[in-house]
Formats: sequence, C-alpha cells, structure tokens
Amino acid sequence: MISPTSGPALRLACRSLPQERLLLPSVHLFDPAHHVDRIADLLIEGGTIAKMGDGMAVPSGVEILNEFRGCWVFPGFVDMHTHLRTPGQEYKEDVVSASRAAAAGGFVAVVGMANTDPPVDVGPLASWVLDQAAVGSEVLVGQVGAVSHGVQGEHMAELRELCEAGVAALSDDGRPVNNADLLLQALRYLRGTGRPVLLHLEDRSLSATGVMHEGRWSARLGLRGIPTAAETGPLARDLEIVAYAAREEERQTDEGHERSNGGGEGSGRPLVHFQHLSCAESVGLIRAAKGQGLPISCEVTPHHLVLTDEAVQSFDQNLKINPPLRCEEARRALVAALADGTIDCVGTDHAPHAPHEKEVPFADALFGTVGLETAFAVLYGTLVVPGDLSLDRLIDAMSTTPSRVLGMEAPRLEVGAPAHLCVVDLDEEWTVTTADLMGKCRNSAFLGRRVQGRVVLTVVAGARRFSRERKE
Ligand SMILES: [Zn+2]
Repeated sequence: MISPTSGPALRLACRSLPQERLLLPSVHLFDPAHHVDRIADLLIEGGTIAKMGDGMAVPSGVEILNEFRGCWVFPGFVDMHTHLRTPGQEYKEDVVSASRAAAAGGFVAVVGMANTDPPVDVGPLASWVLDQAAVGSEVLVGQVGAVSHGVQGEHMAELRELCEAGVAALSDDGRPVNNADLLLQALRYLRGTGRPVLLHLEDRSLSATGVMHEGRWSARLGLRGIPTAAETGPLARDLEIVAYAAREEERQTDEGHERSNGGGEGSGRPLVHFQHLSCAESVGLIRAAKGQGLPISCEVTPHHLVLTDEAVQSFDQNLKINPPLRCEEARRALVAALADGTIDCVGTDHAPHAPHEKEVPFADALFGTVGLETAFAVLYGTLVVPGDLSLDRLIDAMSTTPSRVLGMEAPRLEVGAPAHLCVVDLDEEWTVTTADLMGKCRNSAFLGRRVQGRVVLTVVAGARRFSRERKE
C-alpha cells in the first residue's frame, strides 16, 4: 500500500479485510497537498479511490453511505509518535487496542516507539510487533527500532537488523541519546538507509525529580520544576552534531564517494527529527538551524499546543506529561511555529497508563496522556476554528508531512490512490469523556474538554475500520 521511497523497505502492516465498494455522495474532498478542495462524490472500490466526480451513476453492488453527506473527507492521518506498549506492557495497550484508538481518531497509520519491555532493539522483535499488526491491527502500523541497546544510551542497537526488518525510524524515545559519539555513529550508520533518527530531548540531570514546568505555577503549587534548559541544552548540542554529520557527508560526496540515496539534504529528507518540542526557545533554535539548511524536522503534540502549566493547579495526574506543559508564551510560540511550518508536524505521543500508575499523588504518577482519539478535534476546535491555524496546515501536519518525514507514500485523495482516508463532521461539537477513548487506558489530558470536529468514518486499504453514527 504505502511504500518507502528509498533504502531498505519500510514495513507497514494491518489486518486485511475484504475490500468494500462504497460511495460517499456529496462530501467535501479536502487534500491541500494535492490541491483538492471541492464538493463531489467519492467511490471506493478495489482498495483504491476509484472515482471522484459529480452526480456519479451508482454501479450495482455499491453501498451508498448517505449518512455522511456534507461531511469532509481528508487524507487519513499518520501518527509518527505512538506508544503501542507491546511487547511487555499489554496491560496498558497493545497493537489491536491502539489501532482501535487510532481509527477512532481518523488515523490510517501509526508508528510505535521502541521503549517497550523489552525494548525493540533487535530485528526479530520489530518483526514480531509488525506480525501482530498484520493479524489484528485496524490501521497500518510501523515500528521504530531503538538507537541503543536496551535504550540505555551506551551501545548501538542492531541497526542493520532493525532496518532489514523494515523499521520506520530509530529512536530511544522516553530517553535522550546522551552519548554524542553514539548519536554521531548512528547517523553515519544510517546514511543511505533513508531512516531518520527521532530524538527525545531531555537533560536528565536538569529534569531530575521535576514533575512539571519550572515557573510561576510550580513555585505556587510547591511542585518540583523542569527548566526549559533541560530541552534546549540537548537540542543545541544535537543540532551541532547534525551539522557536523551533514558537513562530513558533503565532504565525502565532494571527494567522489558514492552519494547516499536516502536521508540527508540530497534527497530533501530529514536526517534527524526532534520529538515533542515544548519551549519557545526550541522554536528559535530550530528556525535558525533550518535557515542554515540543516536536514532536520520536528513535531509538537496536541497537548503542548492547547494546554499550559496553569492547568496543573487541578493536580489532574493526566496533565503530568514529559516534556511538561509549559507557559502560555511557549504555547503561543508553538502554535505560531506550526502555522508557519517551522514545526513540521503533529505527533500525538499517545502514552497509555493504567489506573494504578496514574491515580496516585501527582508527584508519583507516571508521565503521559493518550491522544489518538482526540488529536484532530482538539486542534480543530481550539486552533482552526478561532483562526490561529489554517485547516490546510493542520491536515498537512497530520498526514502529508509525517509521511514525508518517514519516507512513506502519503495518503492522498486522488483517483487510483490507495483508499486511506477519514471522514469528519466538522460542525459537531462534543465533550471528551472516557466513553470516547477506544484504547485500553483512560488517561486523557482532555477529559471534560469541549472540542469540535468528529471523525465519523475511517477507511484503510479500502475497508471501513471505524464508523460512528452521525448526530443530527
Ligand atoms: Zn519522548
């Protein structure tokens, strides 16, 4: 379906279902990256988008989905930052439950992080997760391999084996790659594979025992803070390493070595992708580095775009997140950076935790919020409706750009393209409750929040994976 553009084959897996013949009459087709913005009928047949047009004659045997008239159809969303929690933590989530949460949120593909138990640091383990997906997942699943053995940041993981197993990227997410030489070696090793390194930025000597953003609210609440330098320090260092690696690659090319065909500037693909940025200062560093042409990209989470440390006064453990929710000034900088493209895409950092890990005193609770089911509605309602972010940019940041970063063919609304799409009622306003969460865990930072835009149908590979009755 979705295939890699270079390097060893990227493997994405989901369970196969019989292909359906479906007609969506009078829907608003919207795919800004491919200049599609019109009301028309859409026919799904043979796993692909078979036709888009007005007043289509209905071929026999086609099911007409009249209930979705007037809804918007987007290229399906792609989440490059999901915690599938398998292997080893299936009490929190597994491939099947995460895929249900994803489908309910309009996602057609998710990429699982490697910080599981045991971590995915060898090829067979990555293959095992993808095999699980091929049996039971409703959406396409990609797997990330660890950069270091045991995500301990000391010795390199089996990168070659992981790439051969078809991992989408390499990352120690949950932990930083502290060892600069290890990061440099990994970047050298991955040249030509087309696989990016995803970096979690955290100076653990600074974040230490902190539980929220260090600022006015941490002082008032008496909670230990995490300073912004815990993120910006490692970011500045890692940008230096990327610049060094890029210069090295250029020099080698000049000397007549064979140019790599994936990753790096040559292919316009990022070499390093920074995860879940939270600070205004990080945005400044990224903007400057991109200005110099460094092969980087970055993401922001829905929660960092709409919530701030002020909310922590509720002591709601679901607001305990790493990196922490920052101040309003940081939030506004992140929104502006997503709007102008300095921040490339949205990653949910969907991080399920069980009640015994969250329903404890704030300081003792584990970090993280789930996010797949609510990402679009939270961002549409809070940022697009008031005019802080365009719908074009949101769809691009949730579908086309993450696909490009991972080197996969982006979902698109085009005749002949695989039918990976979602249908959304943009007018429906709703309040997030635990009943809306389809994964195994209920730790959402958005419970009780009023949002707008309801995913009513998700189609992957030409088959319905999720549908919801539409409210009149
Ligand atoms: Zn992380």
